[in-house]
Amino acid sequence: MSDTLTTAPPDLLPAARQALKRYYGYDNFRPMQADIIQNILGGKDTVVLMPTGGGKSVCFQIPAVVSEGTCVVVSPLIALMKDQVEALKANGIAAAYINSSVGQSESNDIARAAVSGHLKLLYVSPEKLLSDGFLQFLNRVNISLFAIDEAHCISSWGHDFRPEYTQLGALRTHFPNTPIIALTATADRLTKRDIITQLNLHEPRVFLSSFDRPNINLLVRPGQDRMGSVLDYIARHPQDPGIIYCLSRKTCETVAQKLIAKGVKAGHYHAGMTPLQRGKVQEAFLQDDLQVIVATIAFGMGIDKSNVRWVMHYNLPKNIEGYYQEIGRAGRDGAPSTAILFYSFADVMQMREMVTKDVPARQAQLNTAKLERMQQFAEAASCRRKILLNYFSETLPQDCGNCDICRNPPTTFDGTLIAQKALSAVFRSRERVAINLLIDILRGMRNQAVLQGGYDQIKTYGAGSDLPYLDWYSYIHQMLNDGLFYIAYEEGYALKITERGHQVLKGQLALPLKKFQPAEKAEKPTRASKKAANAASTATIGTPEAQLFEKLRRLRKAIADEQGVPPYVVFSDATLQEMAAERPVNRVGMLGISGVGMKKFETYGEAFIKLILEDGGGQYVPSDSDSMFNEPRPRLAKAEKTEKSAGDSEDATVQFHHMGLTPEDISERRGLALSTVKTHLYTAYAKGRELRIHDFVSDSELAEILTARAQLGNEASLRDLFDHLREKYDYFQLRMAALYHKRLRGQ
Ligand code: ADP
Ligand code: ZN
Repeated sequence: MSDTLTTAPPDLLPAARQALKRYYGYDNFRPMQADIIQNILGGKDTVVLMPTGGGKSVCFQIPAVVSEGTCVVVSPLIALMKDQVEALKANGIAAAYINSSVGQSESNDIARAAVSGHLKLLYVSPEKLLSDGFLQFLNRVNISLFAIDEAHCISSWGHDFRPEYTQLGALRTHFPNTPIIALTATADRLTKRDIITQLNLHEPRVFLSSFDRPNINLLVRPGQDRMGSVLDYIARHPQDPGIIYCLSRKTCETVAQKLIAKGVKAGHYHAGMTPLQRGKVQEAFLQDDLQVIVATIAFGMGIDKSNVRWVMHYNLPKNIEGYYQEIGRAGRDGAPSTAILFYSFADVMQMREMVTKDVPARQAQLNTAKLERMQQFAEAASCRRKILLNYFSETLPQDCGNCDICRNPPTTFDGTLIAQKALSAVFRSRERVAINLLIDILRGMRNQAVLQGGYDQIKTYGAGSDLPYLDWYSYIHQMLNDGLFYIAYEEGYALKITERGHQVLKGQLALPLKKFQPAEKAEKPTRASKKAANAASTATIGTPEAQLFEKLRRLRKAIADEQGVPPYVVFSDATLQEMAAERPVNRVGMLGISGVGMKKFETYGEAFIKLILEDGGGQYVPSDSDSMFNEPRPRLAKAEKTEKSAGDSEDATVQFHHMGLTPEDISERRGLALSTVKTHLYTAYAKGRELRIHDFVSDSELAEILTARAQLGNEASLRDLFDHLREKYDYFQLRMAALYHKRLRGQ
C-alpha cells in the first residue's frame, strides 16, 4: 500500500497545473480546485461541496495523475462511471471501471492492470467494492487516493440515500493511511456531517464552493401558450440540446408528441417506462441523436451530458432546491446556457393542492412555505440570481447581469388608475370572480361566463379594453403580491379586496406598477448586459462564427458516432465555441484552445484544423515575416469582417495590461480565453504599441532566448526553439521575445 501522498513534496502543484494543461487543455484551475488538490497532495482528507458543473472531477483526477499508484473512485451510477472513464481515456489518462455490467474476464484484465500499476484511476460501484474479496484484492494495489463521488448518498437525510454507502466507513479501517476525498453537489449541514462521521474522515478540510452558475441565463416567461413559446425557442435554437421538465407523465408524452409532429427530434422519459425504454431515450439524447428530452424530474440524475444548452420548466417546480438542481443540468461545460421557467398563477394553485394533499399538517405547512419562495422567485422584480443564491445563504455582491430582470429591468409607473379599475370591477361584481373572469370583464369580452353572471351590466365592464390580456394578467399579479386583494381558495378562487385595496380604491394610496415586458423582448440582451453576461457568449445565428460552430459541431458528431462515444467526450461546446471564435489553424493555436490537451490534439486536431482551413482559415495572422512563424499562414477573409470589434477588444486588453493586470487576470476579468488575451497582447505589440515586455519575459530570459535563436539559426521554427529551450518558455513568451529582438534590431 502506498504512502506516496503523505510524503509528497509540497510543490506538486506546478506538476498539477501542467497536467491540467497537458491532459485537459485548460490553462487555469477554477477557484478552489488548486487548494483542494494541494490539500489532497498533502495527504489530507478532504470534503468538497460544489455545484453540478463546478469541476469536481478534476479535483481527484489531477492528484491521481500526478501521484504514483491508482486512485480508486467509488461512484454509484453505472452510466456515470462509463461516461467519466470514456472522458478520461479520450484525454489520454489510463482509467477503467468495474461494476456489475463488466464481465469476469474483463474484470480480471482490469484487476491485473491495477496491480501492475498501469491504471491511474479505477472506478468501482460501492457494491463491488464491498463484495467478497475485493478489499483484499485492493491490498495488492498501490492506492494513491480514495475518491467517494456523490458522497451525499451516504446520508439518510438526503433524497439519494444508498444503504451500501454507509458501509464505506470500512475503507478507513482497511487503509488507515490513504487519504480520502468525498465530493457532492449537496451542501446542507446534515449531509456534510454524515459524510464526515460515516466515512471516518480524519480532520478533513471542507471546501464549500459558491453555488452560483453564472453561465446560466435565468428567464421566467408567462405561462400562456407554453407550447408556442417552446416551439419558438427550439426554432431559434435548432441544434441546441435541451430538457423540458413537466409535472406529469401524461404532459411529458403530449408535449413530446407535439414536438415530434413539428419535426423536432424529441423523446419522452418518465418512471412509468421500462428501464430498456428509458435507457434507449437517454442514450439517444447523450449521442445528440435526440435534441430534446421531455421528462419528469426522474430524468437527469446521473447523466453527465455537458452540452445541455437549455432547460425548461413547463410547470412550476415544488421548491427552489428542485428547480436549482434541474437547471444545473444545463451548461455543465461552462458555456452560455439558458433556463426558462413558465409561470402562471394557476400553477401555484395546482401545486399548492399537490404539496398539501395527504401529508401531515406540519409537512404541508413547510411545503407551502417552500412553494411560496418559488413563487416569489418567479414573480421577482429584482435580480433572480440574487434571490436564488440568497436562498442558499449566499450573497451576490452585484446584480448578475444574466437574468431577464437584469437584462431588462422593469420600469415602474403610477399604476393607481389601473389598479382602481380592477378593484372597482371586483367590488362591483361582489367579489365573486376569479382572475381570468376579472380580466374578461375589464376587457369587455362577451363570453358565457361574463354574460351568465350579468357582468356586462356593471359600470366597469370594458373599462380596461385598451390593455391586452397579458398586461392585465401581469398587473393583477402585482396587485396580489402587493396585498390589494387575496384569493379565497375555498370560494372558487374568487378575489377579495383587502383593507389596503380599499385605500387604493378610494384614492388614499398610490400604487406603482412595473411595466409589463413581453417575453421575447425581455430575452434580447442589451449591449451592456451582453458584455456583463459573458464575452464568450454563443454567437448569433448567421454570423461566420456561428456557421463555423455548426460545422465543427457536425464534425464532432461524425467523429463521436464513429468512435461510439457521446459528442461532448470529443470536445465540449465551450471548446468548439472558442475554436469558432479563434479559428486556430496550427498546432500552437489549437493547443491554446481551452479543452484541447495533448491527446485530443493528436487524435482530433488535424481534422478540426482542416475544417477551419476549409472554412476560410484563421484570424490569427502573424504580422511579420519572421522565419520563426513558418507555420501555415491563415487566410484573411474572415479577419477583415471582425476587425473592428477585434480591435476594440484588443484595446481593452491593452488597457487592462497597463493597469498592471497579468494575462491571467485579464482573461478572468474579461471572460476571455487566455489564448485570446495573449493574441491581443501579441498583436498590439507587433503593431508597435508599447507594452511592459518584462512582465512576460525578464532581461536574462530575453538574453537566453536570443542566444538559443543564434545557435539554431534563422531557419529554425518556433517549435524548434521551444524544444531547444526544453519547454522552459511558452509560445507566447517566445513570440514576444522575437518581436522584442526585432525591435532592437530596428526592423
Ligand atoms: P462536476 O463533477 O462538479 O459536475 P465536472 O467535473 O464534470 O463537474 O466539470 C464540469 C465541466 O467543467 C467539465 O466539462 C470540465 O471539463 C470543465 N472543467 C473542470 N475544471 C476546469 C478548469 N479548470 N477549466 C476549464 N474547464 C474546467
Ligand atoms: Zn440578475
